[in-house]
Amino acid sequence: AKARGKGCFEIFESRMHEQLIDRLDSEARLRDAVHRGELRLHLQPVVALPGKRVGGVEALVRWQDPERGLQQPGSFIPLAEETGLIAEIDRWVLFEACMTVKRWQDLAPHASPAWVSVNLSAVELEIPDLTDRVAYALATTGLSPHCLVLELTETVLMRDLAVTAARLEELRELGVKIAIDDFGTGYSSLGYLRDIPVDVLKVDRSFITGLVGNQRQQELVSAVLQLGHTLGLKVVVEGIETEDQLELLGRMGCRYAQGYFLGRPEPVATLIERMTTGSAI
Ligand code: C2E
Ligand code: CA
Ligand code: CA
Ligand code: CA
Repeated sequence: AKARGKGCFEIFESRMHEQLIDRLDSEARLRDAVHRGELRLHLQPVVALPGKRVGGVEALVRWQDPERGLQQPGSFIPLAEETGLIAEIDRWVLFEACMTVKRWQDLAPHASPAWVSVNLSAVELEIPDLTDRVAYALATTGLSPHCLVLELTETVLMRDLAVTAARLEELRELGVKIAIDDFGTGYSSLGYLRDIPVDVLKVDRSFITGLVGNQRQQELVSAVLQLGHTLGLKVVVEGIETEDQLELLGRMGCRYAQGYFLGRPEPVATLIERMTTGSAI
């Protein structure tokens, strides 16, 4: 039994060792990814209802890892957040998104998105020069501030309400808009709606899964739509995967929708082609 125990410990130890090496390796490669130009910008359409015209796009980052292929954010954003690399990634995405959409608007004024939204990670709001950085991205790319939406999750907002409110006010003075992402998944939604300046609510897709056929959930989503509209906010419903969901949401008064049914995140070239040949998605 003793020998077996020792063997188990060795296996355990060597697995930990492997994991550690693996992690250091991933971290090093992620660190280089930005400089080696391995990040990719994907854009997912946000559609205006009724009519399904593209209103805006959301920027979603991908990592074209030469060893493992195209990586989704779930596989590297957590590591990037732990190591602080997220600041660099978000900076790249911000700049790339502004540049891409500005060029697109110049090329096709009537068949391009009116806004682009960019995700900011929790640590971002604590970076003192965030506002300068956003202003710089706008000035350099020429994108109108009104065309930029910054998406923040509720967890970010809950950190320090006073600091957050002040920071967001600065950003809004530039003319950019603030969205609350994954709305409804946090704990104090009403509190920060009172204290924090926001322009857009993005209803989390967990409210949409199982929406059809669930009266209670429908009433909840209706109430959120109404609340948002009463406060003069734009409400985007995320995670629409079926025609039934879209049709139901349309009847509930939903004006902006995003989801695989309407368009997946895609490289800009693919999306441009789709929008110029097919008008609506
Ligand atoms: P998010 O901001 O809530 O983005 C929406 C996620 O839902 C995206 O996943 C999108 O591909 C996915 N999605 C869209 N429509 C549907 C649908 O109909 N069904 C389902 N099941 N999923 C749908 P993605 O691209 O894997 O991104 C995951 C998360 O990673 C994002 O969630 C965001 O929190 C984070 N993220 C992505 N890009 C960035 C970035 O540039 N910076 C930061 N800080 N975070 C990012
Ligand atoms: Ca988002
Ligand atoms: Ca979301
Ligand atoms: Ca999210």
